[in-house]
Amino acid sequence: MIKKEQKPGQKTSPKIPKVAFDPYDYKKQTYRGVDIYIRPLPWANCTFLKWMISHGAQDDKIELEGTAHFLEHVVFDGNDLYGDRKTIDLFSKEYLLDSLNAHTRFTDTCYVCKFLPQKAGPALDGMYHLIFKPLMRDEDVEHERKVITQEGWDYLLNDKYVAYLKAWSNNLYADIPEKSRMASPLGWIDTVAKVSKKDLRFAHKNYTRENSIIILTGVVNESIIREIKKKIDLLPSGKKRPSLKIPSKINIPKEKRWTKTYTEIGRTDTKQAVLEIDRVLEVKRADEDTLGLISIILREILFRRLRHDNSWCYGVGVNFFKNPKYISQNIWVKVAPENLKDAENIIWDTIDRFIKGEYKEDCERERKIIIDRTLASEFLSGDIAETAEREIASGKNIRKLNEYLEGVVKADYDKAVKHLSLYFKKEDVFTEITIPEEFKGKVK
Ligand SMILES: [Zn+2]
Repeated sequence: MIKKEQKPGQKTSPKIPKVAFDPYDYKKQTYRGVDIYIRPLPWANCTFLKWMISHGAQDDKIELEGTAHFLEHVVFDGNDLYGDRKTIDLFSKEYLLDSLNAHTRFTDTCYVCKFLPQKAGPALDGMYHLIFKPLMRDEDVEHERKVITQEGWDYLLNDKYVAYLKAWSNNLYADIPEKSRMASPLGWIDTVAKVSKKDLRFAHKNYTRENSIIILTGVVNESIIREIKKKIDLLPSGKKRPSLKIPSKINIPKEKRWTKTYTEIGRTDTKQAVLEIDRVLEVKRADEDTLGLISIILREILFRRLRHDNSWCYGVGVNFFKNPKYISQNIWVKVAPENLKDAENIIWDTIDRFIKGEYKEDCERERKIIIDRTLASEFLSGDIAETAEREIASGKNIRKLNEYLEGVVKADYDKAVKHLSLYFKKEDVFTEITIPEEFKGKVK
């Protein structure tokens, strides 16, 4: 049989092989309004639980920034079943493989643990009481206020850095109403000082059935699902958190260029300079796959030009992605201050060449690598749970591996070019340069 010959340079989109086992093939059950995402994993020996509450830093009131995160802390100080921090620790050791944890994001608060299937009963019982029945005593509130101040000492106790962060988000996120809650869910030192027990109890009213989302992976059998449903039956009912208001217009930053020393922004002086280029955009401006393609190609070429050709940097970052409220576009590089100007020129020259179509071949090659790398991946149960959690937190569906690969193959170079030429113009971005003290006045 004569094989069909492929002419050099002929365009072929890589074929997507069907993956034999897709770890992201979650099934969704909705029980009394609660979405339960289930992905049993044949290799797992324990159950992974993520109990997400749609209440996060975005819901903090102005002047009380940090409340949702504060609440997450106080929840660990005692409930009607396990009365104090020490007993909760023992509960985690006895039933949860010492895995009990939580984190607060902009959009939500997530309580996480894993447990052996034979301990599902007491494990889920303890989780229910922890999340939904906290005691929130005066002493717990004061205790956590101190702990949070230590957790965030790096910026909470650094006036210069706080002032810088606020100015920075006012410049870049001017059109996003929640900008005072975006730098960190921890809030600010004056707002953490103000949060009262009453505020925390008020915030806890959002811990309801309507605001619960559950992810279960690893060992997930009928009896575990039954136990989860029994807990859902006990949940208080309340209002569902209204859907996020997405800004329909985001203007270009007011100030286009800052050059500051580390000392001026409240950081420790170092010998290296940092160059960051940012532009925030409305969510509707691009799809995830186009943004992903831009990130991959630009990073690859910049790495090649800045590191391989010039040895000016160790690493370079290109992060174009969507989050629930806006599209974030950022390029950063750390270089010796004397190479700053040249590095910046190379970045813009690379974007120019991208727009002129110079990197089409690189694009095809990167696509093939992504497919191969995905096929070669080994998956851990914990990561499978975490990816699902991240996707849900950012308002997306959990993508199956094949859906992800289809997106990679479908992402179109021409679309990426159009996006860059419209939405990453030199005159519209915010360029932020941080330099060592000794270069003050010598770099613009
Ligand atoms: Zn914390």
